[in-house]
Amino acid sequence: LPDTPKFKRVMLKLSGEALQGGMGFGVDPKVLETVAKEVAAAHTKGVQVAIVVGGGNYFRGANKWTGLDRATADYVGMLATCMNALSLQSALEGQGVPTRVQTAIEMREIAEPYIRRRAVRHLDRGMVVIFGAGTGNPFFTTDTAAALRAAEIDAQAFFKATKVDGVYDQDPERYPGAKLHKQLSFRDVTLQGLRVMDETAITLCKENNIPVIVFNLKTPGNIMRVLTGDVSIGTLVA
Ligand code: UDP
Repeated sequence: LPDTPKFKRVMLKLSGEALQGGMGFGVDPKVLETVAKEVAAAHTKGVQVAIVVGGGNYFRGANKWTGLDRATADYVGMLATCMNALSLQSALEGQGVPTRVQTAIEMREIAEPYIRRRAVRHLDRGMVVIFGAGTGNPFFTTDTAAALRAAEIDAQAFFKATKVDGVYDQDPERYPGAKLHKQLSFRDVTLQGLRVMDETAITLCKENNIPVIVFNLKTPGNIMRVLTGDVSIGTLVA
Protein backbone atom coordinates (compact mmCIF):
# COMPACT_ATOMS: atom_id res chain seq x y z
CA LEU A 1 0.00 0.00 0.00
CA PRO A 2 1.54 3.33 -1.02
CA ASP A 3 -0.34 4.96 1.84
CA THR A 4 1.30 2.88 4.54
CA PRO A 5 3.49 5.08 6.71
CA LYS A 6 7.17 4.15 6.77
CA PHE A 7 7.62 4.82 10.46
CA LYS A 8 5.65 3.48 13.38
CA ARG A 9 6.78 6.05 15.93
CA VAL A 10 8.50 9.38 15.32
CA MET A 11 9.76 12.45 17.12
CA LEU A 12 8.93 15.89 15.75
CA LYS A 13 10.96 18.80 17.06
CA LEU A 14 9.35 22.19 16.58
CA SER A 15 11.19 25.33 17.59
CA GLY A 16 9.29 27.99 19.46
CA GLU A 17 10.08 30.36 16.62
CA ALA A 18 8.27 28.05 14.23
CA LEU A 19 5.02 28.76 16.05
CA GLN A 20 5.68 32.47 16.07
CA GLY A 21 5.00 32.81 12.34
CA GLY A 22 4.69 36.42 11.29
CA MET A 23 4.33 37.69 14.83
CA GLY A 24 7.33 39.13 16.61
CA PHE A 25 6.60 37.19 19.77
CA GLY A 26 4.43 34.38 21.09
CA VAL A 27 2.24 32.16 18.97
CA ASP A 28 0.60 32.90 15.63
CA PRO A 29 -2.84 31.22 15.72
CA LYS A 30 -2.78 30.61 11.95
CA VAL A 31 0.58 28.86 12.05
CA LEU A 32 -0.50 26.85 15.06
CA GLU A 33 -3.61 25.69 13.24
CA THR A 34 -1.66 24.73 10.13
CA VAL A 35 0.85 22.73 12.16
CA ALA A 36 -1.96 21.00 14.05
CA LYS A 37 -3.77 20.10 10.81
CA GLU A 38 -0.66 18.53 9.32
CA VAL A 39 0.18 16.57 12.46
CA ALA A 40 -3.45 15.44 12.55
CA ALA A 41 -3.20 14.22 8.95
CA ALA A 42 -0.10 12.13 9.75
CA HIS A 43 -1.74 10.85 12.91
CA THR A 44 -4.78 9.75 10.93
CA LYS A 45 -2.50 7.61 8.76
CA GLY A 46 -1.44 5.72 11.84
CA VAL A 47 1.94 7.23 12.71
CA GLN A 48 2.63 7.53 16.43
CA VAL A 49 3.77 11.12 16.90
CA ALA A 50 5.70 12.54 19.83
CA ILE A 51 6.50 16.24 19.83
CA VAL A 52 9.03 18.38 21.63
CA VAL A 53 8.48 22.08 21.29
CA GLY A 54 11.02 24.83 22.02
CA GLY A 55 10.43 28.12 23.73
CA GLY A 56 12.47 30.63 21.79
CA ASN A 57 9.37 32.61 20.81
CA TYR A 58 9.06 33.61 24.46
CA PHE A 59 12.42 33.28 26.11
CA ARG A 60 15.94 31.93 25.58
CA GLY A 61 18.09 31.27 28.59
CA ALA A 62 21.37 31.53 26.74
CA ASN A 63 20.73 35.15 25.68
CA LYS A 64 23.04 37.53 27.52
CA TRP A 65 20.41 40.28 27.81
CA THR A 66 18.23 38.35 30.24
CA GLY A 67 20.40 39.69 33.06
CA LEU A 68 19.61 36.53 35.02
CA ASP A 69 22.04 33.90 36.10
CA ARG A 70 22.19 31.23 33.45
CA ALA A 71 20.48 28.42 35.36
CA THR A 72 17.54 30.62 36.36
CA ALA A 73 17.23 31.95 32.82
CA ASP A 74 17.16 28.39 31.55
CA TYR A 75 14.35 27.48 33.93
CA VAL A 76 12.38 30.44 32.59
CA GLY A 77 13.10 29.09 29.10
CA MET A 78 11.80 25.67 30.11
CA LEU A 79 8.59 27.26 31.40
CA ALA A 80 8.24 28.99 28.02
CA THR A 81 8.27 25.59 26.30
CA CYS A 82 5.32 24.57 28.49
CA MET A 83 3.25 27.48 27.22
CA ASN A 84 3.89 26.26 23.69
CA ALA A 85 3.12 22.66 24.66
CA LEU A 86 -0.28 23.66 26.04
CA SER A 87 -1.06 25.82 23.00
CA LEU A 88 -0.15 22.99 20.68
CA GLN A 89 -2.25 20.57 22.69
CA SER A 90 -5.26 22.82 22.38
CA ALA A 91 -4.73 23.24 18.63
CA LEU A 92 -4.37 19.47 18.12
CA GLU A 93 -7.47 18.72 20.12
CA GLY A 94 -9.23 21.31 17.97
CA GLN A 95 -8.41 19.00 15.06
CA GLY A 96 -9.84 16.03 16.91
CA VAL A 97 -6.49 14.51 17.88
CA PRO A 98 -6.29 13.11 21.40
CA THR A 99 -3.17 14.37 23.13
CA ARG A 100 -1.25 14.29 26.37
CA VAL A 101 1.28 16.80 27.60
CA GLN A 102 4.04 15.52 29.86
CA THR A 103 6.45 17.93 31.46
CA ALA A 104 9.95 17.33 32.76
CA ILE A 105 9.20 19.75 35.62
CA GLU A 106 6.06 18.82 37.50
CA MET A 107 3.04 21.05 37.07
CA ARG A 108 0.33 18.56 37.82
CA GLU A 109 -2.60 20.92 37.49
CA ILE A 110 -1.95 21.44 33.81
CA ALA A 111 0.02 18.42 32.58
CA GLU A 112 1.23 14.98 33.51
CA PRO A 113 4.74 14.57 34.84
CA TYR A 114 7.07 12.84 32.42
CA ILE A 115 6.83 9.09 32.89
CA ARG A 116 8.46 7.19 30.07
CA ARG A 117 6.36 4.04 30.20
CA ARG A 118 3.21 6.07 30.37
CA ALA A 119 4.24 8.17 27.39
CA VAL A 120 4.81 5.00 25.37
CA ARG A 121 1.43 3.68 26.43
CA HIS A 122 -0.28 6.90 25.32
CA LEU A 123 1.44 6.62 21.95
CA ASP A 124 0.39 2.99 21.58
CA ARG A 125 -3.16 4.06 22.30
CA GLY A 126 -3.09 6.60 19.50
CA MET A 127 -2.45 9.80 21.39
CA VAL A 128 -0.01 12.46 20.33
CA VAL A 129 2.35 13.09 23.23
CA ILE A 130 3.86 16.54 23.66
CA PHE A 131 6.86 16.83 25.93
CA GLY A 132 7.27 20.14 27.75
CA ALA A 133 10.00 21.71 29.90
CA GLY A 134 12.82 20.29 27.81
CA THR A 135 14.99 17.87 29.73
CA GLY A 136 14.14 19.58 33.00
CA ASN A 137 17.77 20.64 33.33
CA PRO A 138 19.45 23.97 32.68
CA PHE A 139 22.32 24.12 30.17
CA PHE A 140 20.48 21.88 27.73
CA THR A 141 18.42 22.67 24.66
CA THR A 142 15.08 21.44 23.43
CA ASP A 143 16.89 19.76 20.52
CA THR A 144 18.71 17.69 23.11
CA ALA A 145 15.44 17.07 24.97
CA ALA A 146 13.88 15.85 21.73
CA ALA A 147 16.82 13.55 20.99
CA LEU A 148 16.72 12.19 24.53
CA ARG A 149 12.98 11.53 24.44
CA ALA A 150 13.30 10.03 20.95
CA ALA A 151 15.81 7.53 22.30
CA GLU A 152 13.72 6.82 25.39
CA ILE A 153 10.52 6.11 23.50
CA ASP A 154 12.37 4.21 20.78
CA ALA A 155 11.40 6.57 17.97
CA GLN A 156 12.43 5.44 14.49
CA ALA A 157 13.16 8.92 13.20
CA PHE A 158 13.80 12.42 14.43
CA PHE A 159 12.29 15.23 12.38
CA LYS A 160 13.69 18.67 12.89
CA ALA A 161 11.51 21.41 11.47
CA THR A 162 13.47 24.49 10.37
CA LYS A 163 13.12 27.68 8.33
CA VAL A 164 15.16 26.28 5.43
CA ASP A 165 14.96 23.18 3.24
CA GLY A 166 17.60 21.17 5.09
CA VAL A 167 21.33 21.16 5.76
CA TYR A 168 23.45 23.28 3.41
CA ASP A 169 27.20 23.48 2.86
CA GLN A 170 27.03 27.12 4.00
CA ASP A 171 24.39 29.40 5.54
CA PRO A 172 21.68 29.67 2.83
CA GLU A 173 20.35 32.91 4.29
CA ARG A 174 23.74 34.57 3.75
CA TYR A 175 24.99 32.75 0.65
CA PRO A 176 22.35 32.35 -2.08
CA GLY A 177 24.58 29.81 -3.86
CA ALA A 178 24.63 27.48 -0.85
CA LYS A 179 24.24 23.82 -1.80
CA LEU A 180 21.60 21.65 -0.12
CA HIS A 181 22.75 18.23 1.06
CA LYS A 182 20.21 15.49 0.36
CA GLN A 183 21.88 12.90 2.53
CA LEU A 184 24.73 12.93 5.03
CA SER A 185 26.25 10.50 7.46
CA PHE A 186 26.71 11.46 11.09
CA ARG A 187 30.43 11.29 10.33
CA ASP A 188 30.09 13.87 7.53
CA VAL A 189 28.29 16.18 9.93
CA THR A 190 31.14 15.97 12.43
CA LEU A 191 33.97 16.11 9.88
CA GLN A 192 32.51 19.03 7.96
CA GLY A 193 31.42 20.82 11.13
CA LEU A 194 27.85 21.17 9.84
CA ARG A 195 25.38 22.75 12.26
CA VAL A 196 22.44 20.39 12.18
CA MET A 197 21.69 20.69 15.89
CA ASP A 198 23.82 21.20 18.97
CA GLU A 199 26.42 18.51 19.51
CA THR A 200 24.69 16.87 22.45
CA ALA A 201 21.53 16.37 20.41
CA ILE A 202 23.27 15.07 17.32
CA THR A 203 25.46 12.73 19.39
CA LEU A 204 22.42 11.24 21.11
CA CYS A 205 20.80 10.52 17.74
CA LYS A 206 24.02 9.08 16.34
CA GLU A 207 24.69 6.82 19.30
CA ASN A 208 21.14 5.52 19.30
CA ASN A 209 20.94 5.07 15.51
CA ILE A 210 18.06 7.49 15.09
CA PRO A 211 18.05 9.07 11.63
CA VAL A 212 17.59 12.84 11.64
CA ILE A 213 15.57 14.51 8.92
CA VAL A 214 15.89 18.29 8.66
CA PHE A 215 13.08 19.86 6.67
CA ASN A 216 11.33 23.15 5.96
CA LEU A 217 8.33 23.76 8.16
CA LYS A 218 7.08 26.63 6.02
CA THR A 219 6.40 24.59 2.90
CA PRO A 220 2.73 23.58 3.08
CA GLY A 221 2.23 19.85 3.50
CA ASN A 222 5.81 19.15 4.57
CA ILE A 223 5.05 18.02 8.12
CA MET A 224 2.49 15.54 6.88
CA ARG A 225 4.82 14.30 4.15
CA VAL A 226 7.88 13.75 6.32
CA LEU A 227 5.98 12.20 9.21
CA THR A 228 4.44 9.66 6.87
CA GLY A 229 7.85 8.68 5.53
CA ASP A 230 8.73 10.94 2.59
CA VAL A 231 12.17 11.95 3.79
CA SER A 232 13.20 13.15 0.32
CA ILE A 233 11.92 16.68 0.96
CA GLY A 234 14.74 17.52 3.34
CA THR A 235 18.19 16.36 4.39
CA LEU A 236 18.54 12.87 5.80
CA VAL A 237 21.34 12.35 8.32
CA ALA A 238 21.83 8.68 9.06
N1 UDP B 1 16.02 24.88 28.15
C1 UDP B 1 16.78 24.31 29.16
N2 UDP B 1 16.87 22.94 29.24
C2 UDP B 1 16.29 22.12 28.35
C3 UDP B 1 15.54 22.70 27.29
C4 UDP B 1 15.41 24.07 27.22
O1 UDP B 1 17.34 25.01 29.97
O2 UDP B 1 16.40 20.89 28.48
C5 UDP B 1 15.82 26.36 28.11
C6 UDP B 1 16.98 27.12 27.48
O3 UDP B 1 17.14 28.31 28.22
C7 UDP B 1 16.45 27.45 26.11
C8 UDP B 1 14.98 27.64 26.35
O4 UDP B 1 14.67 26.67 27.35
O5 UDP B 1 17.06 28.61 25.61
C9 UDP B 1 14.08 27.46 25.16
O6 UDP B 1 14.44 26.33 24.45
P1 UDP B 1 15.18 26.41 23.00
O7 UDP B 1 16.04 27.61 22.92
O8 UDP B 1 15.83 25.09 22.78
O9 UDP B 1 13.93 26.60 22.09
P2 UDP B 1 13.82 26.78 20.50
O10 UDP B 1 15.07 27.43 20.00
O11 UDP B 1 13.67 25.39 19.93
O12 UDP B 1 12.59 27.58 20.33
